[in-house]
Amino acid sequence: MLSIEKLVRQIITAEVSAVEVVEYFNKKVAASQLNSFITPCPELAIEQAKKIDEKRARGEKLGRLAGVPIAIKDVILVKGIQATGGSRILENYIGSYDATMVERLKAEDAVIIGKTNCDEFAMGSSGENSGYGPTKNPWDLNRVPGGSSSGSAAAVAAGECLAALGTDTGGSIRQPAAFCGLVGLKPTYGRVSRYGLMAMTSSFDQAGPLTRTVEDSAFILQVIAGHDNHDATSSHQAVPNYIDTLKNNIKGLRIGVPAEFFSSGLQPAVKVLVEQAIKKLSSLGALIVEVNLPSLEYALAAYYVICPSEVSANLARYDGIRFGIRASAESLNELYTKTRGRLLGSEAKRRVMLGTYVLSAGYYEAYYKQAQLARQLIKQEFNQVFSKVDILAAPTTPTPAFMMGSKANDPLAMYLADIFTVPVNIAGLPAVSVPCGLVDGLPVGLQLIGSAWSEDLLLRVAYNYEQSEVWYKKLSDFIKSKF
Ligand code: GLN
Repeated sequence: MLSIEKLVRQIITAEVSAVEVVEYFNKKVAASQLNSFITPCPELAIEQAKKIDEKRARGEKLGRLAGVPIAIKDVILVKGIQATGGSRILENYIGSYDATMVERLKAEDAVIIGKTNCDEFAMGSSGENSGYGPTKNPWDLNRVPGGSSSGSAAAVAAGECLAALGTDTGGSIRQPAAFCGLVGLKPTYGRVSRYGLMAMTSSFDQAGPLTRTVEDSAFILQVIAGHDNHDATSSHQAVPNYIDTLKNNIKGLRIGVPAEFFSSGLQPAVKVLVEQAIKKLSSLGALIVEVNLPSLEYALAAYYVICPSEVSANLARYDGIRFGIRASAESLNELYTKTRGRLLGSEAKRRVMLGTYVLSAGYYEAYYKQAQLARQLIKQEFNQVFSKVDILAAPTTPTPAFMMGSKANDPLAMYLADIFTVPVNIAGLPAVSVPCGLVDGLPVGLQLIGSAWSEDLLLRVAYNYEQSEVWYKKLSDFIKSKF
């Protein structure tokens, strides 16, 4: 199977040219049946590839991601390329600069192959909230690929690119990774700069990689992590070498299993696979410890108060005046109704309304303040647990990928798909989803959650598990047989 390490080596030694590689992936993107891209950038990708080949011909040193075709979720800016954020309101918007993570990928000679489809401004769990049509799951075209990084996940799973960037505010990297049989890493809040990322819930949003293997994930994180002067919330915390420690064993590591993640709502077949994965970790030398996070029951409710609150502020800029398509109107009110009323999708409008409501005088104390208190409680409980164990193991999602349309008219049922992922964002922690088997032919994810800045440990545990099961080989063979 093609890995980042292998591809970069082949490009450096001139076994293949970057242009050949890009031509191959451009063709796959053009032939996609998944609606995974909103804006493919074949010409830009070829231009970048040519530069890499010329650099090599001149004998210059190539970057760590030389020639690696990477797709970028459409909420992240790439200079000169359309950036819709999955919304019709930004149909005319062109990225005016590179997001810091994109700049860092380019500096290491990665090739940006296109902008991927996503739920509007990253709000959703299925990819169905995009203004550009739903993305399909390559495992079963009638099912959702998960969301909101739907296109990034579908594209990597179907081999339309080698890796993709997604964003995770409440699970949008891990959940689609689980649904598509991929590795999805949500870094600690502040690990990756948010400069050039359209804000959804600024205090939860983090970008990270979707890849087929843990090692590929480590390669991408290594490049995009680290402080950035343009983002005051990005951390000065040193970035360790993730590749160096990946292969160390996990003997004696304490892995906590929070009982609350295994209760109602978890599909029994998913439970069986996750429990098997935990047994596997134990057979690799880890110590399994039962733990409790009693305040987790408030997580989803707190998330769906805090998220809409921040959304209501962050989406105010898409008014046709500051950003977005401007409808012609006679008055300011008419301008708002025509622009925002018609061009924003129903989930975006629902959250703006919910957010404005819970923040308004009279309700602020009852909802927003309570949610922030719950957030503190959840954070404290995670901290206490991490004084007893090194990482936590749990399911990523309660079920495998669901049928397209099955939850689209039921926001509450849709929100429940995030029940195991949102607590991590509430506490600002890092987590990774790694494939742990199939239920009725659909992939399931094991979620590993770490304390702040422990991405190295998470990747190490994920790698040890992955190598013991090599699910990624079986999964990629299956997908290959279809595409
Ligand atoms: N599905 C969650 C939501 O709709 C999470 C979205 C995300 O992580 N961007 O808010």
